Amino acid sequence: MTKVYVKLDDVGSYWLRACKEAVVHLNGLFKRNEIAVVLSTTGSEDAKITVKTDAGIQGDAVHGRTSAETTGAGKLLNADVRLPVKVTINTPQGIRDAGVGILEVIAAHEFVHALGHPTHNTKLMGQTLYKEPGDTAAGDKLKAGGIKMPPLDLSDDSIAELKSIWS
Ligand SMILES: [Zn+2]
Repeated sequence: MTKVYVKLDDVGSYWLRACKEAVVHLNGLFKRNEIAVVLSTTGSEDAKITVKTDAGIQGDAVHGRTSAETTGAGKLLNADVRLPVKVTINTPQGIRDAGVGILEVIAAHEFVHALGHPTHNTKLMGQTLYKEPGDTAAGDKLKAGGIKMPPLDLSDDSIAELKSIWS
């Protein structure tokens, strides 16, 4: 089991809770699907993902940016994840900040890229994620491949891709 440290020191209060929820819920998916990697926001590590915001990413974007350095076998050594400073959503009442659920999905998508999943398919790793406003920010979702997240969900292809690296 490889432990990957997700460094959130510089992510800021806007993203902190969403990133922590992404870590908890991805770990649940990895465990359930026998993907032998675990994310940790503390402690010792075999590899590291450093997460920061980047003012160069537009606030209406639902993607961040990830670059990763890996071993020849595709295992993560170090990755940098960049997230938008703020994410907004259009609602019938006007534009407001997106809820934590949307931020969780964006962060989790980038963490999975960092773990060696470069491609896009459906569900969490969908290429196109659509924002769906809730009645309040707490109900906001991102939709991909016919499902709304959270809760986070990985496609069978993504599970197979991750298992081929982390086994
Ligand atoms: Zn992506």
